[in-house]
Amino acid sequence: MTADATGPSIFSRIVAREIPATIVAETERVIAFRDVAPQAPVHVLVVPKSELYRDVVELAAGDPALLAEMVAVAQQVASAESDGQFRLVFNTGANAGQTVFHVHGHVLSGALEESRIGS
Ligand code: 5GP
Repeated sequence: MTADATGPSIFSRIVAREIPATIVAETERVIAFRDVAPQAPVHVLVVPKSELYRDVVELAAGDPALLAEMVAVAQQVASAESDGQFRLVFNTGANAGQTVFHVHGHVLSGALEESRIGS
């Protein structure tokens, strides 16, 4: 959710240290912390500190350099925590599984399932 009648998003509250999270990387504009419900040996969320963009489509149009910074942080996390190889997943829209409308990428690494897109 973005800031509205319900207030800041859950991720903004993590950025503000109002709710706890295990932060694994941080830059001036991006934060990375462990997903509370991991789906892979390494499952980290990479999130812009601003909740201006709801999803990756809005972010790519509005601030492509920030999207590139998120990808660089994802690479850093995968290198620090695994073998440097990773999936970067952006659920985009409720029907695609997005539940938090503050853009974020899921960094998935480690021993991943065999399933691949296109196989
Ligand atoms: P989405 O479903 O929007 O693509 O991803 C949201 C992710 O945020 C989910 O994987 C969920 O487990 C994670 N998540 C939701 N609330 C919290 C929280 O309070 N702390 C952390 N660390 N992760 C959260």
